[in-house]
Amino acid sequence: MRVRIHRGTREIGGTCVELECDRKRILLDLGLPLNLPDLDGAKLPAVDGLEAGSDDLLAIVLSHGHRDHWGLVPKAHQSIPLVMGAATERVMEAAAKFVPDGVALRASHHLVSGQPLTLGPFKITPHLVDHSGFDAYALEVEAGGKRIFYSGDLRAHGRKGSLFERLLKNPPEAIDLMLMEGSSLGRLANDQRFPSEEVLEEQFLDRFKQTSGISLIACSAQNIDRVVTVYRAAKRAGRTLLIDAYAAEVLAATGYATIPKAEEGWSNVAVYIPQAQRVNLAKSGTASLVGKYRNLRVWPEQLKSRAGQLAMLFRGWMIRDLERADALSGARVIWSQWDGYLAEGAGARLKDECARLGLPFESIHTSGHASVPDLQRLAAAISPRRLIPIHTFGRDAFPDLFDNVALVDDGQWIDV
Ligand SMILES: [Zn+2]
Ligand SMILES: [Zn+2]
Repeated sequence: MRVRIHRGTREIGGTCVELECDRKRILLDLGLPLNLPDLDGAKLPAVDGLEAGSDDLLAIVLSHGHRDHWGLVPKAHQSIPLVMGAATERVMEAAAKFVPDGVALRASHHLVSGQPLTLGPFKITPHLVDHSGFDAYALEVEAGGKRIFYSGDLRAHGRKGSLFERLLKNPPEAIDLMLMEGSSLGRLANDQRFPSEEVLEEQFLDRFKQTSGISLIACSAQNIDRVVTVYRAAKRAGRTLLIDAYAAEVLAATGYATIPKAEEGWSNVAVYIPQAQRVNLAKSGTASLVGKYRNLRVWPEQLKSRAGQLAMLFRGWMIRDLERADALSGARVIWSQWDGYLAEGAGARLKDECARLGLPFESIHTSGHASVPDLQRLAAAISPRRLIPIHTFGRDAFPDLFDNVALVDDGQWIDV
């Protein structure tokens, strides 16, 4: 088997790894580079048959639903089979109705944790991992008598941290080559750890108690761990989690019984349809999908009187609805995403808007990626013959932190 990383040896974003054995090939991820916000200017990596289709290119396997791992798939030839988690496929389909450049990708096979999937000479065993993206997998691939372990994106401090510890206790054996993400390198000190979702839950609870008006939480509805954290804190503070139709559809699409949803049986979840969303749904002919939330709706005229009992998952543009409803008295805005998004665009506009309205604005967040000490535990448990950094801006720090590190270039073939 041989391997080449098309993108990711020196950056986060645009991840794409090609594996070849017996003249058959698969790709692990086909992401959008971070510096390209949309598809127009993006080029496919130089993979034979990716644009025109090829019988030798057996599949594109997606580790999870973040755009830096699948964003270029719409440019690839439609005949190439896609493999991903079933929940990833469902969440993507749910989100596509709401996101302007949304895409619903169709899987030919689903990844199921612990169940090997054979594609030609490749035996792929997915391992469900803890990550800010839902339904994320590390991938173990065996072919031609060699074994690769690709970490995908992962962490140990989220709500599914037990998956990380389980992987450490039962690591895949005899790994010849490990491709390990290093998003955190350079973002925090090498001995520092990130706060857990449990710690965040306490911080949210504290803030919700201190807030007299509506609590507004700017987080991604697709960061399911975070939504659960906010839900739990809201419940403990006696507040109802208020979500829009997009978040309601995404939560329903997870298909997990333990995840809060806008359904009967979840007493403190309610749905508010912002005016712009109502208009968009009507335009696209999908207004009927909100019918099922009828009994759970909070209506515009109720926002003001119920403000102090609500914790709302929101995006900056929804502030118009709250202003119009005169529901911002005593409100607080909590940013719960990467702070880098505040530098420009919608994040920066929201921050300015809060300053204009005199609303307190603060950040409560933790990373979706493992700290360096956790990565060291992972690398030690798997103990690969060779470890190659991927999905990182900090590759030069790898040799000092991990054993058996090999640094390679984008596009370079590596014999496993
Ligand atoms: Zn990710
Ligand atoms: Zn990523």
